Amino acid sequence: MPKQLITILGSTGSIGCSTLQVIALHPDKYQVFALAAYSNTELLLEQSMAFKARYAVLVGAIPNSELQQRFKSHGVELLFGLSALDDVAQHESVDTVMAAIVGVAGLQSTLAAARCGKRILLANKESLVVSGKLLMDAVKENHATLLPVDSEHNAIFQSLPVYHQQGLDQAGVKKIILTASGGPFLHKKPHELADITPEQACKHPNWSMGRKISVDSATMMNKALELIEACWLFNASPSQVDILIHPQSIIHSMVTYKDGSVMAQLGCPDMRTPIAYALAYPERIDSGVEMLDLAKIGTLQFEQVNLERFPAIRLAYEVVKAGGTASTIFNAANEVAVENFLDGHIPFNQITQIIETVLNQSAIESVESLETVLNVDRQTRMITQQIIKKSKV
Ligand code: NAD
Ligand code: MG
Repeated sequence: MPKQLITILGSTGSIGCSTLQVIALHPDKYQVFALAAYSNTELLLEQSMAFKARYAVLVGAIPNSELQQRFKSHGVELLFGLSALDDVAQHESVDTVMAAIVGVAGLQSTLAAARCGKRILLANKESLVVSGKLLMDAVKENHATLLPVDSEHNAIFQSLPVYHQQGLDQAGVKKIILTASGGPFLHKKPHELADITPEQACKHPNWSMGRKISVDSATMMNKALELIEACWLFNASPSQVDILIHPQSIIHSMVTYKDGSVMAQLGCPDMRTPIAYALAYPERIDSGVEMLDLAKIGTLQFEQVNLERFPAIRLAYEVVKAGGTASTIFNAANEVAVENFLDGHIPFNQITQIIETVLNQSAIESVESLETVLNVDRQTRMITQQIIKKSKV
């Protein structure tokens, strides 16, 4: 069997590094073609050398021939800028693209991969949230393959029959149950949330992740984005998706069928499992993850989501119902609010309030093109920044 040639977009991040750890276990199956990152030059070089990448991409650096020479002396061609992301995502040699850039910044390269019919391992949930229609259409029209890496969606994918694309109803599905850990502040009192520091918000009880998604987990915006992601991936209506708090993060999600059966996927909370599943699908490979020991864990708990405590979930259901660019606005407002929180400009408990204010002030359009989506994203970022500025005077 020839090796699968892989491009990893966002290789220096949490998902990117975990992907390389799984690939390192299977040198006979996978070969890295290109690695892309924003600005972590040293790690990108180290990874490119270790995995003998043909190309490396630095998006956030000014083109620099000295740096290019450094990479070249190790046999790696270094490229700069946004368009280079598209180039390594759609290159004819590439079989598989791991989309693991954080935020809407990952949208264009994921779309580029879809338009070239690639096998896409999708971690970048934001690209489905901001333009689910464009991405799903591009996948369908170009016979690309979209495999969910997000642990919940990967679990749902594993719990559904292969023919689920014909419709959830036809597959006998009654409900998709997205599980949620509830994040580090599940049982904190609302008044205690004002003084949360970025470090506290980024300390997830079960998962080790990048800073943006860690804050999203603490506000439950992550689950809100995942609801939208699930609707697109599985062609589900919002009423077909329930959210259930499960603080241990052992059951990664479930599917309830008409006959009363519930299928679930369980495992230790480690992203290398869904990454390995997506990499090898439909086969199974070693992921390097510790095996689940349920006797040691002892108890699995569940509770309903409190929508007053976590208004992000209520907003997400409203956003899916509204359709069009509502989710683009939702995502952009969140990205800006999270950046402001991480930079110490707004308190933690204002993140969701700001998102709701922005949603209430924005007009929703239908998603016609990538241009529409990018314009709405840009405008929403400006509006959100203005609202934050006003809230401080
Ligand atoms: P991270 O912050 O650890 O890494 C992000 C990566 O994207 C880095 O390599 C960074 O260099 C790159 N990047 C950032 N901005 C960029 C830009 N403008 N252009 C090009 N590259 C850019 O993030 P992460 O936790 O690995 O998450 C990546 C994606 O996977 C997110 O969409 C997240 O929601 C999703 N996800 C992550 C986890 C997890 O456990 N970390 C789980 C499920 C889904
Ligand atoms: Mg998830």
